[in-house]
Amino acid sequence: MKAEDVAGDLESVLLTREEIDDIVQDLAVQIDRDYEGKDILLVGVLKGALMIMADLSRALRSNVTIDFMAVSSYGSGTKSSGVVRILKDLEEDLMGRHVLIVEDIVDSGLTLSWLKTNLESRGPASVEIVTLFRKPEALAVDIDVKYIGRDIPNKFVVGYGLDFSQKYRNLDVLATLAPHVYE
Ligand code: 5GP
Ligand code: MG
Ligand code: MG
Repeated sequence: MKAEDVAGDLESVLLTREEIDDIVQDLAVQIDRDYEGKDILLVGVLKGALMIMADLSRALRSNVTIDFMAVSSYGSGTKSSGVVRILKDLEEDLMGRHVLIVEDIVDSGLTLSWLKTNLESRGPASVEIVTLFRKPEALAVDIDVKYIGRDIPNKFVVGYGLDFSQKYRNLDVLATLAPHVYE
């Protein structure tokens, strides 16, 4: 889906498809350099990470295994609380593996912080995080996100995997929503 298809729902396009693609390619170069000679276990967090997983995994020159988790964080409204429940666990054994958590966006960082601790308890050789987007609030949280695609303003964004009520995930740009959509 393109921005013009839902033009009335969008406030502004923050990043075009080409700009997102450049960011993903840059992330892949950094990751390939750091993991040279190692196999990587990519762990995507459903559903938001589906686009970044598809594009990043193809951009990587390293050998990868792909797995997914689904989690729900209890919280009020749009804020996550840090209390997390696993809806779908990994199929892979993490023992001795180089795990790279693949995230769409880090906002409060609470879900991610819980997830990193959880995966570290399963005996991996390493656990790092790559996120495509990061919001300013994430800077206040003590979580080490090794690879960051782009810092974005503190606004609710949709597209490239990110939804509002399960819509707009297939929008091929990153955009902010017009207030009439969510008010
Ligand atoms: P956090 O725990 O860091 O606050 O965010 C958890 C999840 O909330 C993210 O992985 C993402 O799926 C979702 N999220 C955070 N900010 C946004 C946003 O601006 N737009 C959308 N669509 N989802 C977001
Ligand atoms: Mg996510
Ligand atoms: Mg969502």
